[in-house]
Amino acid sequence: MGLTQTQEYYLQTMGVDVYRSRDRALDDPASNSDEVRTASVRVPETTVQESEIWRDLRQRVAKCQQCELYRERTQTVFGVGDHHADWLIIGEAPGAEEDKQGEPFVGRAGKLLNNMLFALGLQREQVFIANILKCRPPKNRDPKPEEVNACSSYLREQIDLIQPKIILAVGRIAAQNLMKTETPIGKMRGRRYQYADTGIPVVVTYHPAYLLRSPREKRKVWQDLQLAMRVYKETA
Ligand code: SF4
Repeated sequence: MGLTQTQEYYLQTMGVDVYRSRDRALDDPASNSDEVRTASVRVPETTVQESEIWRDLRQRVAKCQQCELYRERTQTVFGVGDHHADWLIIGEAPGAEEDKQGEPFVGRAGKLLNNMLFALGLQREQVFIANILKCRPPKNRDPKPEEVNACSSYLREQIDLIQPKIILAVGRIAAQNLMKTETPIGKMRGRRYQYADTGIPVVVTYHPAYLLRSPREKRKVWQDLQLAMRVYKETA
């Protein structure tokens, strides 16, 4: 089975040229989109206890003042999506629009992320999307190590609750902080990592905001997504 017309459209929206025969040779994950959707859509069985744990975590984050970033935020950006998602997408930190709307990956970068997910056969609602930081760093500067440290327990709690089958780290900040390395993201790509002591596989790719500035890198992102799908299939 090849790419559907809609998936071709989304890949082209990402700026990725579609070569059918080559895609098949690479065991294109999007070609198995029906299988992927079936594998990813699980009937949520959120218990009352689970709901309370999520509510408590959300409230603690909303009130958090553990680092200086609380002073300038409009609101915290907790994360959004399926609490039982197989796929956890982790980005850097809220930008101006995310800070305003309270949701990660909105605006043009958010649309491109949605297209990347669609190329995998996934809808945004089927994954969980979070950031390394829950509050916006002023002027979109890089997060400071002390801010990452202060915020890391919230992300860890989310990961423990969701228990995803795979983490897709998007962007340098997410990749380096999750893997606790200073290796450039270009050198981190193309490998399977593991998140801390969990055994959850991590695959790294570029941030959609970077892709908007450097559209030539979109072909590499497609390669990363294919790797992520192969890793996911091995895990699921
Ligand atoms: S960034 Fe994280 S640790 Fe810092 S105030 Fe916001 S929620 Fe708290």
